[in-house]
Amino acid sequence: MADYYEVLGVERSASEEEIKRAYRKMSRKYHPDIAGPEFEDKFKEVNTAYDVLSDKDKRRMYDSGVDPNDPNAGAYGPASGFGMGDMGDIFGQFFNGAFGGSGSQGPIPRTQQGRDALANTAIDLKSAVFGGVAHVKINTFGLCPDCHGTGSSHGAKPTTCPDCHGQGFRQKVVRTMLGQMMTTAPCERCEGHGTIIGSPCPTCMGHGRIRTTRDVGVTIPAGIADNTRLRLPNQGEVGEGGGTAGDLYIDVRIKTDKRFARDGDDLHCWIEVPMTWAVLGHTLDIDTFDGAQSISIPAGCQPEETVTLKGLGVAHIRQQSSRGDLIAHVNVHVPTKLDDEEKRLIEEFAAHHDTDDPQVSQSSRPAGGAHRGFFSKLKEALR
Ligand SMILES: [Zn+2]
Ligand SMILES: [Zn+2]
Repeated sequence: MADYYEVLGVERSASEEEIKRAYRKMSRKYHPDIAGPEFEDKFKEVNTAYDVLSDKDKRRMYDSGVDPNDPNAGAYGPASGFGMGDMGDIFGQFFNGAFGGSGSQGPIPRTQQGRDALANTAIDLKSAVFGGVAHVKINTFGLCPDCHGTGSSHGAKPTTCPDCHGQGFRQKVVRTMLGQMMTTAPCERCEGHGTIIGSPCPTCMGHGRIRTTRDVGVTIPAGIADNTRLRLPNQGEVGEGGGTAGDLYIDVRIKTDKRFARDGDDLHCWIEVPMTWAVLGHTLDIDTFDGAQSISIPAGCQPEETVTLKGLGVAHIRQQSSRGDLIAHVNVHVPTKLDDEEKRLIEEFAAHHDTDDPQVSQSSRPAGGAHRGFFSKLKEALR
């Protein structure tokens, strides 16, 4: 039988007040949060000693040589003397389990780690090209602005629960068919926290957090791929009791752009030019994400030929200083309506050009874009 007086460091004649004072000193000294986890058993011992010596009936029982915390103790039922000590242990475990509490557990912390949150956003292709900041509205638990997470109003601090003396659980005498047994159960008064919030913050009802909608600025890296999940540490849900927020994950989708299609880090666009430009060559301005840029269509440009603007594509995500290309695909517009004079000129051209009019090539697949029916289109127009 443990010497509870020795554990608390008091005389056997100690008054209630002296015991209380000794307990406060010892529990502070050996609290695992202060002294370290290796003092957990010592801390438990101090609490057990106080549990017995602070209770008049238990102390009297202890003084008479019976440990009220020992389920096998003589005064606690018929099991004693029948060699059924093991049964007592089994029942002790059973009751600990049944009450969901255990002497090995400390008080349940008021502050809990917050959960992660997930949101999504859609950005413009331009933001993917250059990077930027997207503003995303998040509806989740945030820190209570009035108590800053403490749960108490007016800056009050939670006080030690007088029922369990900060342990978060209480020892209970339970009647069983084998007699009375001691077991532990979460303290009802403080719900196992070991502390009591005297005047809870009215804004959060003592939870230290409230559901809020807030605007989060999300940094979009240049070159981000479609459907990328970004992680923002500690921007998720604030935990119970103002606990550290979880992480925020943002799924980023890139909106379809009307002018440009993306392929990896290259951008593609299609421009339709008059037939005469394709034949004679032409320089024109096209819109890009870098403003208007001049491109030159070479004389004799074939339908679907491409003109590449180096370095005007999407930034490389791993090497942001360099970028992909912008590739303009040239569509040749064949006129569908010709007046008599135009028709005459084209026919004259055709007659003049007939000598090197090529054989019509035939294939089961398009011939790599070039030579795809420019002249046949032209002839169709003339028909
Ligand atoms: Zn509050
Ligand atoms: Zn309590």
